[in-house]
Amino acid sequence: MDFDLTQDQREIQALTRDFARAEIEPNASAWDRDHHFPRELFGKLAEIGLMGACVPEEYGGAGVDFLSYILVLEELSRADAGVGVTVAVHTSAATLPILTHGTDEQKARFVPPLARGEHLGAFALTEADAGSDAGALRTKAEPHDSGWTITGAKQWITNGRHAGTFLLFARTDQQTAGARGVSAFLLDAEHVRVTRDEEKLGLNSSVTNDIVIEAAEVGRDRLLHEENRGFRVAMATLDGGRIGIAAQALGIAQAGYDVARAYATERRAFGHRIADFQAIQHKLADMSMEIDAARLLVYRAAWLKQEGRKHTEEGAKAKLFASEMARRQTAEAIQILGGYGYTKEFPVERYYRDAKITEIYEGTSEIQRLVIARSILGLTERALVAR
Ligand SMILES: Cc1cc2nc3c(=O)[nH]c(=O)nc-3n(C[C@H](O)[C@H](O)[C@H](O)COP(=O)(O)OP(=O)(O)OC[C@H]3O[C@@H](n4cnc5c(N)ncnc54)[C@H](O)[C@@H]3O)c2cc1C
Repeated sequence: MDFDLTQDQREIQALTRDFARAEIEPNASAWDRDHHFPRELFGKLAEIGLMGACVPEEYGGAGVDFLSYILVLEELSRADAGVGVTVAVHTSAATLPILTHGTDEQKARFVPPLARGEHLGAFALTEADAGSDAGALRTKAEPHDSGWTITGAKQWITNGRHAGTFLLFARTDQQTAGARGVSAFLLDAEHVRVTRDEEKLGLNSSVTNDIVIEAAEVGRDRLLHEENRGFRVAMATLDGGRIGIAAQALGIAQAGYDVARAYATERRAFGHRIADFQAIQHKLADMSMEIDAARLLVYRAAWLKQEGRKHTEEGAKAKLFASEMARRQTAEAIQILGGYGYTKEFPVERYYRDAKITEIYEGTSEIQRLVIARSILGLTERALVAR
């Protein structure tokens, strides 16, 4: 076993870290406070290849491996988790599924503008009555001679307001309920109307939108993968996407640890640094250990994916552990900072708010446990509710 990152992986990690320190971290509190989506930042990220990091160069990407892309998400999220999720959804949930499931024509047409950051990508599966149970979705795609007419509404779509390309799931077989009879489509911004910006607990530098699709006419060239087999696209996308969310959680936890450790060596009480108290040492030790454990799970899942090996169970374990760890340890970071931790003077309260979502999207913790249980028990039915 080799636990070292390669030279290329270390370089992209350093590149992202330097960029994040200069361009993201100093602005993150203000973006959080003002609920500001830093649209211009994604042009800069594109200039250094980070809007299509793991996309092959022939499609406009930087052509690095999947683990390198995971390192990018970790570093971006360490500076600002909202930026992290924007890039994660754009890449894992919109660009990569086109590369995996698209025709040559679809790849050549839709991927380069995404990989070059000219468009943002979005993933539109969730509806008001179809979250974990995504197979209950009701958005309809009705066939006509040259394609489909799509009508419906989607909820909580990350990047919705700023996206140029949507990977959207709609029911093509109206006679079949559940996951069968759903197809995946590639839509443009003009096919979609944004109806709402969600107010959230955290992740304020990202946008989360309700959208409606009002009898959008799309041709056959917009169908991704086979008709009525779109749920497979969704599940495969989430298998990989989850590793990105795990990396986001890891980055947030690392940021909390960095602040808490530095604070503990400076803050004094009872004539000592608080880092000299065993109670604080134990907290820091646990944080450091759990972050290490999460990192190993996340990098293993990323490595399996890039090797083309099965990663459903490992991705779910990485996401489940990293997200719960991030929520737990960002709370401990607040505790180490005492009253200051609860104020906006330090970023740890933002980390805590941002960490919480990683236990919910791309499959809640309850759903990750279900995915893992099905895998370890060898149950034949694929986790169709696995979001
Ligand atoms: C900020 C944000 C961004 C998002 N971005 C996107 C996006 O870009 N695209 C997109 O399509 N969606 C997106 N989502 C939706 C997200 O994926 C869903 O919120 C998530 O899948 C959970 O669905 P739900 O909220 O409907 O919860 P529900 O499914 O209603 O679940 C409620 C509770 O019941 C539990 N539960 C449900 N089913 C089971 C079960 N079988 N066993 C045990 N417990 C169960 C859940 O774990 C949870 O605790 C986003 C959500 C948020 C908040």
